[in-house]
Amino acid sequence: MEDKASRQALLRAIPQTGEMIETIKSRLPGLPHQMVADCVRQVLEAERRRLLKEDSPHPLGREALLEKALAEIQRRLSPSLRPVVNATGVVVHTNLGRSCLPKEAIEEILSVADRYSNLEFNLETGKRGSRYSHVEALLCELTGAEAALVVNNNAAAVLITLETLARGKEVIVSRGELVEIGGSFRIPDVMARSGAILREVGTTNRTHLRDYQAAIGPETALLMKVHRSNFQVVGFTKEVSSQELAQLAHEHGLAAVEDLGSGCFVDLSPYGLPGEPTVQEVLRAGVDIVTFSGDKLMGGPQAGLILGRAELVERIKKNPINRAVRIDKLTLAALEATLRLYRDQQRALEAIPTLRLLTMTEEEVARRARRLLRHLRRQKLPQVELGLTKVFSQVGGGALPLANLPSVAISVRPRRKSVVALEEALRRLDYPIVARIEEETLLLDVRTIKDEEFSLVSKGLREALETA
Ligand SMILES: *Cc1c(COP(=O)(O)O)cnc(C)c1O
Repeated sequence: MEDKASRQALLRAIPQTGEMIETIKSRLPGLPHQMVADCVRQVLEAERRRLLKEDSPHPLGREALLEKALAEIQRRLSPSLRPVVNATGVVVHTNLGRSCLPKEAIEEILSVADRYSNLEFNLETGKRGSRYSHVEALLCELTGAEAALVVNNNAAAVLITLETLARGKEVIVSRGELVEIGGSFRIPDVMARSGAILREVGTTNRTHLRDYQAAIGPETALLMKVHRSNFQVVGFTKEVSSQELAQLAHEHGLAAVEDLGSGCFVDLSPYGLPGEPTVQEVLRAGVDIVTFSGDKLMGGPQAGLILGRAELVERIKKNPINRAVRIDKLTLAALEATLRLYRDQQRALEAIPTLRLLTMTEEEVARRARRLLRHLRRQKLPQVELGLTKVFSQVGGGALPLANLPSVAISVRPRRKSVVALEEALRRLDYPIVARIEEETLLLDVRTIKDEEFSLVSKGLREALETA
Protein backbone atom coordinates (compact mmCIF):
# COMPACT_ATOMS: atom_id res chain seq x y z
CA MET A 1 0.00 0.00 0.00
CA GLU A 2 0.99 3.64 0.18
CA ASP A 3 3.16 2.86 3.18
CA LYS A 4 5.66 1.23 0.87
CA ALA A 5 5.75 4.22 -1.48
CA SER A 6 6.15 6.67 1.37
CA ARG A 7 8.96 4.61 2.85
CA GLN A 8 10.74 4.65 -0.51
CA ALA A 9 10.40 8.41 -0.49
CA LEU A 10 11.89 8.60 2.99
CA LEU A 11 14.83 6.45 1.93
CA ARG A 12 15.41 8.58 -1.17
CA ALA A 13 15.50 11.68 1.01
CA ILE A 14 18.52 10.37 2.98
CA PRO A 15 21.49 12.59 2.09
CA GLN A 16 24.14 11.26 -0.31
CA THR A 17 27.18 9.62 1.23
CA GLY A 18 29.70 11.51 -0.91
CA GLU A 19 28.15 14.86 -0.23
CA MET A 20 28.13 14.23 3.55
CA ILE A 21 31.81 13.22 3.46
CA GLU A 22 32.77 16.36 1.55
CA THR A 23 30.84 18.58 3.98
CA ILE A 24 32.58 17.09 6.98
CA LYS A 25 36.01 17.29 5.37
CA SER A 26 35.48 20.92 4.45
CA ARG A 27 34.34 21.74 7.99
CA LEU A 28 37.17 19.82 9.61
CA PRO A 29 40.10 19.64 7.21
CA GLY A 30 42.80 17.07 7.79
CA LEU A 31 40.66 14.15 8.94
CA PRO A 32 41.61 10.81 7.40
CA HIS A 33 39.28 10.19 4.45
CA GLN A 34 38.74 6.50 5.15
CA MET A 35 37.63 7.12 8.72
CA VAL A 36 35.24 9.93 7.76
CA ALA A 37 33.75 7.75 5.02
CA ASP A 38 33.34 4.85 7.44
CA CYS A 39 31.56 6.98 10.01
CA VAL A 40 29.24 8.57 7.44
CA ARG A 41 28.31 5.18 5.98
CA GLN A 42 27.68 3.78 9.44
CA VAL A 43 25.35 6.64 10.38
CA LEU A 44 23.47 6.59 7.06
CA GLU A 45 23.10 2.83 7.17
CA ALA A 46 21.67 2.98 10.68
CA GLU A 47 19.22 5.67 9.53
CA ARG A 48 18.18 3.54 6.54
CA ARG A 49 17.54 0.55 8.78
CA ARG A 50 15.59 2.65 11.25
CA LEU A 51 13.38 4.08 8.51
CA LEU A 52 12.61 0.58 7.27
CA LYS A 53 11.92 -0.86 10.69
CA GLU A 54 9.96 1.69 12.71
CA ASP A 55 6.23 2.25 12.28
CA SER A 56 5.71 5.76 10.87
CA PRO A 57 9.33 6.90 11.34
CA HIS A 58 10.47 10.52 11.34
CA PRO A 59 13.53 11.04 9.17
CA LEU A 60 16.47 12.76 10.83
CA GLY A 61 17.43 15.90 8.94
CA ARG A 62 20.75 16.42 7.22
CA GLU A 63 22.18 18.47 10.09
CA ALA A 64 21.21 15.82 12.65
CA LEU A 65 22.86 13.13 10.56
CA LEU A 66 25.99 15.25 10.18
CA GLU A 67 26.06 15.69 13.93
CA LYS A 68 25.77 11.95 14.47
CA ALA A 69 28.62 11.32 12.04
CA LEU A 70 30.76 13.95 13.82
CA ALA A 71 30.02 12.35 17.17
CA GLU A 72 31.13 8.99 15.79
CA ILE A 73 34.31 10.60 14.42
CA GLN A 74 34.98 12.17 17.79
CA ARG A 75 34.45 8.80 19.47
CA ARG A 76 36.91 7.10 17.13
CA LEU A 77 39.52 9.82 17.56
CA SER A 78 39.59 9.51 21.34
CA PRO A 79 41.34 6.56 22.95
CA SER A 80 39.14 3.59 23.65
CA LEU A 81 41.08 2.55 26.76
CA ARG A 82 40.98 5.47 29.17
CA PRO A 83 40.93 6.28 32.85
CA VAL A 84 37.71 6.13 34.85
CA VAL A 85 36.81 7.11 38.39
CA ASN A 86 36.17 3.96 40.40
CA ALA A 87 33.37 4.95 42.76
CA THR A 88 32.28 1.35 43.31
CA GLY A 89 34.37 0.73 46.41
CA VAL A 90 35.62 -2.52 44.90
CA VAL A 91 39.37 -2.19 45.40
CA VAL A 92 40.71 -4.87 43.04
CA HIS A 93 38.00 -4.32 40.41
CA THR A 94 38.59 -6.86 37.65
CA ASN A 95 36.60 -4.88 35.07
CA LEU A 96 38.28 -1.59 35.96
CA GLY A 97 41.86 -2.79 35.66
CA ARG A 98 42.44 -4.49 39.04
CA SER A 99 45.36 -2.80 40.82
CA CYS A 100 46.60 0.76 40.30
CA LEU A 101 50.37 0.80 40.18
CA PRO A 102 52.56 2.47 42.79
CA LYS A 103 54.28 5.58 41.47
CA GLU A 104 57.66 3.87 41.87
CA ALA A 105 56.50 1.29 39.32
CA ILE A 106 55.31 3.95 36.89
CA GLU A 107 58.66 5.75 37.11
CA GLU A 108 60.45 2.48 36.41
CA ILE A 109 58.26 1.82 33.36
CA LEU A 110 59.03 5.30 32.04
CA SER A 111 62.74 4.84 32.59
CA VAL A 112 62.97 1.80 30.33
CA ALA A 113 60.12 2.50 27.89
CA ASP A 114 61.93 4.81 25.47
CA ARG A 115 65.45 3.49 26.01
CA TYR A 116 67.42 0.33 25.55
CA SER A 117 67.88 -1.73 28.68
CA ASN A 118 69.77 -4.78 29.94
CA LEU A 119 66.56 -6.83 29.63
CA GLU A 120 68.41 -9.94 28.47
CA PHE A 121 72.00 -8.79 28.67
CA ASN A 122 74.38 -9.57 31.49
CA LEU A 123 76.39 -6.39 32.01
CA GLU A 124 79.07 -8.22 33.97
CA THR A 125 79.88 -10.94 31.47
CA GLY A 126 78.81 -9.11 28.33
CA LYS A 127 76.83 -12.18 27.36
CA ARG A 128 73.16 -12.96 26.98
CA GLY A 129 71.27 -12.68 30.24
CA SER A 130 67.92 -13.81 31.54
CA ARG A 131 64.95 -11.46 31.76
CA TYR A 132 63.87 -13.19 34.95
CA SER A 133 67.13 -12.34 36.69
CA HIS A 134 65.81 -8.83 37.42
CA VAL A 135 63.18 -10.12 39.81
CA GLU A 136 64.18 -13.66 40.72
CA ALA A 137 66.66 -12.82 43.48
CA LEU A 138 64.28 -10.23 44.89
CA LEU A 139 61.41 -12.73 44.97
CA CYS A 140 63.60 -15.31 46.69
CA GLU A 141 64.78 -12.75 49.23
CA LEU A 142 61.22 -11.67 50.02
CA THR A 143 59.65 -15.11 50.25
CA GLY A 144 62.36 -17.61 51.03
CA ALA A 145 61.72 -19.45 47.75
CA GLU A 146 64.69 -21.21 46.12
CA ALA A 147 63.80 -20.00 42.64
CA ALA A 148 61.21 -17.95 40.80
CA LEU A 149 59.76 -17.39 37.37
CA VAL A 150 57.29 -14.82 36.14
CA VAL A 151 54.82 -15.22 33.28
CA ASN A 152 51.99 -13.22 31.76
CA ASN A 153 49.32 -13.92 34.39
CA ASN A 154 48.37 -16.49 36.98
CA ALA A 155 46.25 -18.48 34.52
CA ALA A 156 49.41 -18.99 32.45
CA ALA A 157 51.37 -19.79 35.61
CA VAL A 158 48.95 -22.60 36.52
CA LEU A 159 48.83 -23.89 32.96
CA ILE A 160 52.59 -24.04 32.46
CA THR A 161 53.15 -25.52 35.92
CA LEU A 162 50.72 -28.37 35.26
CA GLU A 163 51.94 -28.89 31.70
CA THR A 164 55.54 -29.16 32.85
CA LEU A 165 55.09 -31.24 35.98
CA ALA A 166 52.06 -33.39 35.23
CA ARG A 167 51.34 -33.80 31.52
CA GLY A 168 49.94 -37.28 30.96
CA LYS A 169 49.92 -37.90 34.71
CA GLU A 170 47.41 -37.44 37.51
CA VAL A 171 46.94 -34.39 39.70
CA ILE A 172 44.94 -34.91 42.87
CA VAL A 173 42.65 -32.01 43.84
CA SER A 174 39.89 -31.72 46.44
CA ARG A 175 36.32 -31.51 45.08
CA GLY A 176 35.90 -28.44 47.27
CA GLU A 177 38.60 -26.59 45.30
CA LEU A 178 37.58 -27.08 41.66
CA VAL A 179 37.03 -23.37 41.27
CA GLU A 180 35.96 -21.13 38.46
CA ILE A 181 37.48 -17.66 38.39
CA GLY A 182 35.42 -15.41 36.14
CA GLY A 183 34.10 -17.65 33.39
CA SER A 184 37.09 -18.67 31.36
CA PHE A 185 39.40 -19.93 34.08
CA ARG A 186 38.15 -23.21 35.53
CA ILE A 187 40.51 -25.62 37.22
CA PRO A 188 39.13 -28.74 35.44
CA ASP A 189 39.40 -27.01 32.02
CA VAL A 190 42.90 -25.66 32.60
CA MET A 191 43.91 -29.10 33.83
CA ALA A 192 42.54 -30.72 30.66
CA ARG A 193 44.35 -28.19 28.44
CA SER A 194 47.63 -28.84 30.24
CA GLY A 195 47.36 -32.52 29.43
CA ALA A 196 47.25 -33.42 33.11
CA ILE A 197 44.56 -35.76 34.37
CA LEU A 198 42.36 -34.42 37.14
CA ARG A 199 41.81 -36.84 39.97
CA GLU A 200 39.10 -35.40 42.23
CA VAL A 201 38.95 -36.50 45.83
CA GLY A 202 36.77 -35.83 48.86
CA THR A 203 33.47 -34.01 48.76
CA THR A 204 32.37 -30.42 48.22
CA ASN A 205 32.49 -29.59 51.92
CA ARG A 206 34.90 -32.12 53.39
CA THR A 207 38.17 -33.52 52.15
CA HIS A 208 40.50 -35.49 54.45
CA LEU A 209 44.17 -36.32 54.21
CA ARG A 210 43.18 -40.00 53.80
CA ASP A 211 41.22 -39.06 50.62
CA TYR A 212 44.42 -37.80 49.00
CA GLN A 213 46.34 -40.76 50.39
CA ALA A 214 43.93 -43.30 48.94
CA ALA A 215 44.13 -41.69 45.49
CA ILE A 216 47.93 -41.75 45.23
CA GLY A 217 49.09 -44.32 42.70
CA PRO A 218 51.74 -44.91 40.05
CA GLU A 219 50.14 -42.31 37.77
CA THR A 220 50.18 -39.50 40.34
CA ALA A 221 52.42 -36.53 39.59
CA LEU A 222 51.19 -33.82 41.93
CA LEU A 223 49.01 -33.06 44.91
CA MET A 224 47.40 -29.70 44.31
CA LYS A 225 45.65 -27.13 46.42
CA VAL A 226 43.63 -24.32 44.89
CA HIS A 227 42.72 -21.22 46.81
CA ARG A 228 38.96 -20.67 47.10
CA SER A 229 39.43 -17.13 45.91
CA ASN A 230 35.88 -16.03 45.30
CA PHE A 231 33.73 -18.15 47.58
CA GLN A 232 33.79 -19.85 50.92
CA VAL A 233 32.52 -23.13 52.25
CA VAL A 234 31.04 -22.77 55.72
CA GLY A 235 29.40 -25.14 58.18
CA PHE A 236 30.42 -28.78 58.35
CA THR A 237 33.73 -28.51 56.55
CA LYS A 238 37.21 -29.99 56.49
CA GLU A 239 40.18 -29.17 54.37
CA VAL A 240 43.73 -30.38 54.45
CA SER A 241 46.35 -27.75 55.28
CA SER A 242 49.19 -26.86 52.93
CA GLN A 243 51.63 -28.36 55.40
CA GLU A 244 49.83 -31.73 55.69
CA LEU A 245 49.47 -31.93 51.93
CA ALA A 246 53.14 -31.13 51.29
CA GLN A 247 54.21 -33.70 53.87
CA LEU A 248 52.04 -36.39 52.29
CA ALA A 249 53.40 -35.54 48.83
CA HIS A 250 56.98 -35.79 50.02
CA GLU A 251 56.40 -39.12 51.78
CA HIS A 252 55.44 -40.48 48.36
CA GLY A 253 58.20 -38.75 46.42
CA LEU A 254 55.68 -36.36 44.85
CA ALA A 255 55.45 -32.57 44.68
CA ALA A 256 52.77 -30.33 46.19
CA VAL A 257 51.56 -27.36 44.17
CA GLU A 258 49.33 -24.55 45.39
CA ASP A 259 47.48 -22.02 43.25
CA LEU A 260 47.19 -19.17 45.73
CA GLY A 261 45.18 -16.93 43.44
CA SER A 262 45.70 -13.53 45.02
CA GLY A 263 48.94 -14.24 46.82
CA CYS A 264 49.70 -11.69 49.50
CA PHE A 265 53.11 -10.94 51.04
CA VAL A 266 51.68 -9.07 54.02
CA ASP A 267 49.39 -10.40 56.75
CA LEU A 268 46.37 -8.13 56.46
CA SER A 269 44.53 -9.46 59.52
CA PRO A 270 45.75 -6.63 61.81
CA TYR A 271 43.83 -4.29 59.48
CA GLY A 272 40.49 -5.97 59.94
CA LEU A 273 40.73 -8.25 56.92
CA PRO A 274 40.31 -12.03 57.11
CA GLY A 275 43.58 -13.79 57.80
CA GLU A 276 44.95 -15.49 54.70
CA PRO A 277 48.14 -17.49 54.51
CA THR A 278 50.86 -15.33 52.97
CA VAL A 279 53.09 -16.55 50.16
CA GLN A 280 55.95 -16.88 52.64
CA GLU A 281 53.85 -19.04 54.96
CA VAL A 282 52.74 -21.40 52.22
CA LEU A 283 56.33 -21.88 51.09
CA ARG A 284 57.44 -22.40 54.66
CA ALA A 285 54.73 -25.06 55.01
CA GLY A 286 56.71 -27.06 52.46
CA VAL A 287 54.66 -26.53 49.29
CA ASP A 288 57.00 -27.08 46.34
CA ILE A 289 55.47 -24.61 43.88
CA VAL A 290 53.11 -21.72 44.54
CA THR A 291 51.52 -19.56 41.86
CA PHE A 292 49.65 -16.26 42.18
CA SER A 293 48.70 -13.05 40.39
CA GLY A 294 50.83 -9.92 40.33
CA ASP A 295 47.88 -7.54 40.16
CA LYS A 296 45.54 -8.82 42.84
CA LEU A 297 46.56 -8.39 46.49
CA MET A 298 50.21 -7.96 45.54
CA GLY A 299 49.17 -4.69 43.91
CA GLY A 300 51.61 -4.76 41.01
CA PRO A 301 51.24 -5.21 37.25
CA GLN A 302 49.42 -8.12 35.61
CA ALA A 303 51.73 -11.11 35.96
CA GLY A 304 51.78 -14.72 37.08
CA LEU A 305 54.38 -15.56 39.70
CA ILE A 306 55.75 -19.05 40.09
CA LEU A 307 57.89 -19.63 43.16
CA GLY A 308 59.36 -22.70 44.77
CA ARG A 309 61.96 -25.43 44.50
CA ALA A 310 64.82 -24.69 42.15
CA GLU A 311 64.72 -28.02 40.36
CA LEU A 312 61.01 -27.69 39.52
CA VAL A 313 61.20 -24.00 38.59
CA GLU A 314 64.12 -24.83 36.26
CA ARG A 315 61.98 -27.41 34.47
CA ILE A 316 59.15 -24.90 34.07
CA LYS A 317 61.60 -22.30 32.73
CA LYS A 318 62.73 -24.70 30.02
CA ASN A 319 59.19 -25.46 28.84
CA PRO A 320 58.72 -24.00 25.32
CA ILE A 321 55.33 -22.65 26.43
CA ASN A 322 57.30 -20.26 28.63
CA ARG A 323 58.29 -18.28 25.57
CA ALA A 324 54.62 -17.95 24.59
CA VAL A 325 53.57 -16.62 27.98
CA ARG A 326 56.59 -14.53 28.94
CA ILE A 327 56.21 -11.05 30.36
CA ASP A 328 57.35 -7.93 28.55
CA LYS A 329 59.93 -5.42 29.73
CA LEU A 330 57.41 -2.78 30.87
CA THR A 331 55.68 -5.28 33.14
CA LEU A 332 59.02 -6.47 34.41
CA ALA A 333 60.05 -2.91 35.23
CA ALA A 334 56.81 -2.34 37.17
CA LEU A 335 57.09 -5.68 38.91
CA GLU A 336 60.65 -5.11 40.08
CA ALA A 337 59.76 -1.67 41.45
CA THR A 338 56.69 -3.03 43.24
CA LEU A 339 58.62 -5.92 44.76
CA ARG A 340 61.34 -3.58 46.03
CA LEU A 341 58.72 -1.77 48.10
CA TYR A 342 58.00 -4.99 49.99
CA ARG A 343 61.45 -4.92 51.60
CA ASP A 344 59.85 -2.56 54.11
CA GLN A 345 56.29 -3.70 54.91
CA GLN A 346 55.25 -0.35 56.35
CA ARG A 347 56.43 1.35 53.19
CA ALA A 348 54.60 -1.23 51.06
CA LEU A 349 51.34 -0.53 52.89
CA GLU A 350 51.72 3.18 52.17
CA ALA A 351 53.09 3.13 48.64
CA ILE A 352 51.16 0.30 47.02
CA PRO A 353 47.70 1.66 46.18
CA THR A 354 45.91 -1.67 46.57
CA LEU A 355 47.29 -2.18 50.08
CA ARG A 356 46.78 1.45 50.94
CA LEU A 357 43.10 1.28 49.95
CA LEU A 358 42.51 -2.04 51.69
CA THR A 359 43.98 -0.82 54.96
CA MET A 360 42.43 2.67 54.88
CA THR A 361 40.43 3.08 58.09
CA GLU A 362 36.76 3.98 58.16
CA GLU A 363 37.70 7.25 59.91
CA GLU A 364 40.03 8.21 57.10
CA VAL A 365 37.42 7.40 54.43
CA ALA A 366 34.87 9.42 56.43
CA ARG A 367 37.21 12.42 56.60
CA ARG A 368 37.82 12.24 52.87
CA ALA A 369 34.10 11.78 52.19
CA ARG A 370 33.30 14.98 54.11
CA ARG A 371 35.85 16.80 51.99
CA LEU A 372 34.37 15.47 48.75
CA LEU A 373 30.90 16.41 49.97
CA ARG A 374 32.06 20.01 50.51
CA HIS A 375 33.45 20.00 46.93
CA LEU A 376 30.10 18.79 45.63
CA ARG A 377 28.07 21.27 47.69
CA ARG A 378 30.14 24.12 46.27
CA GLN A 379 28.82 23.13 42.85
CA LYS A 380 25.31 24.20 43.92
CA LEU A 381 23.37 21.30 42.49
CA PRO A 382 19.69 21.89 43.26
CA GLN A 383 18.70 18.82 41.21
CA VAL A 384 20.00 16.39 43.82
CA GLU A 385 19.96 15.70 47.50
CA LEU A 386 23.48 14.92 48.72
CA GLY A 387 24.49 13.13 51.88
CA LEU A 388 26.91 10.72 53.50
CA THR A 389 26.09 7.11 54.18
CA LYS A 390 27.89 4.13 55.68
CA VAL A 391 28.57 1.34 53.21
CA PHE A 392 30.86 -1.64 52.82
CA SER A 393 33.66 -1.69 50.27
CA GLN A 394 34.81 -4.97 48.80
CA VAL A 395 38.25 -6.36 48.13
CA GLY A 396 37.28 -7.68 44.68
CA GLY A 397 39.51 -9.49 42.21
CA GLY A 398 38.27 -12.79 43.49
CA ALA A 399 40.09 -12.23 46.76
CA LEU A 400 38.76 -12.36 50.32
CA PRO A 401 35.14 -12.72 49.18
CA LEU A 402 33.66 -12.36 52.63
CA ALA A 403 35.63 -9.31 53.68
CA ASN A 404 33.42 -6.29 54.23
CA LEU A 405 35.39 -3.11 54.68
CA PRO A 406 33.39 -0.45 56.54
CA SER A 407 33.42 2.63 54.34
CA VAL A 408 31.59 5.87 53.60
CA ALA A 409 29.85 6.86 50.40
CA ILE A 410 28.37 10.06 49.05
CA SER A 411 24.68 9.40 48.48
CA VAL A 412 23.15 11.18 45.52
CA ARG A 413 19.38 11.23 45.20
CA PRO A 414 18.08 13.02 42.10
CA ARG A 415 14.93 15.02 42.91
CA ARG A 416 13.25 14.64 39.56
CA LYS A 417 15.36 12.51 37.24
CA SER A 418 15.74 8.79 37.53
CA VAL A 419 18.75 7.49 39.40
CA VAL A 420 19.30 4.95 36.61
CA ALA A 421 19.60 7.76 34.04
CA LEU A 422 22.08 9.54 36.30
CA GLU A 423 24.20 6.41 36.71
CA GLU A 424 24.31 6.07 32.93
CA ALA A 425 25.13 9.74 32.33
CA LEU A 426 28.07 9.47 34.76
CA ARG A 427 29.30 6.40 32.92
CA ARG A 428 29.13 8.23 29.59
CA LEU A 429 31.21 11.24 30.61
CA ASP A 430 34.52 11.87 28.83
CA TYR A 431 36.12 10.94 32.15
CA PRO A 432 33.59 8.32 33.21
CA ILE A 433 32.51 7.84 36.81
CA VAL A 434 31.47 4.30 37.64
CA ALA A 435 29.08 4.20 40.59
CA ARG A 436 26.48 1.87 41.99
CA ILE A 437 22.82 2.15 42.86
CA GLU A 438 21.27 0.92 46.08
CA GLU A 439 17.66 1.54 46.96
CA GLU A 440 17.01 4.36 44.48
CA THR A 441 20.19 6.12 45.59
CA LEU A 442 23.41 6.55 43.69
CA LEU A 443 26.40 5.72 45.87
CA LEU A 444 29.92 7.03 45.39
CA ASP A 445 32.14 4.97 47.71
CA VAL A 446 34.95 7.34 48.62
CA ARG A 447 37.46 4.60 49.48
CA THR A 448 38.35 4.00 45.83
CA ILE A 449 38.06 7.64 44.66
CA LYS A 450 41.47 9.32 44.63
CA ASP A 451 41.92 12.76 46.24
CA GLU A 452 43.10 14.07 42.88
CA GLU A 453 39.78 13.01 41.40
CA PHE A 454 37.56 15.03 43.75
CA SER A 455 37.22 18.04 41.46
CA LEU A 456 36.69 15.72 38.48
CA VAL A 457 33.85 14.05 40.36
CA SER A 458 32.16 17.32 41.21
CA LYS A 459 32.46 18.66 37.67
CA GLY A 460 31.35 15.28 36.32
CA LEU A 461 28.29 15.16 38.51
CA ARG A 462 27.25 18.65 37.41
CA GLU A 463 27.73 17.72 33.74
CA ALA A 464 25.85 14.44 34.13
CA LEU A 465 22.93 16.20 35.79
CA GLU A 466 22.73 18.60 32.88
CA THR A 467 22.51 15.74 30.36
CA ALA A 468 20.72 13.01 32.33
C1 LIG B 1 42.60 -15.03 39.89
C2 LIG B 1 42.93 -16.45 39.97
C3 LIG B 1 43.49 -17.10 38.87
C4 LIG B 1 43.75 -16.40 37.58
O1 LIG B 1 44.73 -15.41 37.73
P1 LIG B 1 44.95 -14.31 36.59
O2 LIG B 1 46.08 -13.49 37.07
O3 LIG B 1 43.67 -13.56 36.48
O4 LIG B 1 45.25 -15.03 35.33
C5 LIG B 1 43.80 -18.42 39.00
N1 LIG B 1 43.56 -19.11 40.13
C6 LIG B 1 43.00 -18.51 41.22
C7 LIG B 1 42.73 -19.32 42.44
C8 LIG B 1 42.67 -17.15 41.16
O5 LIG B 1 42.13 -16.56 42.23
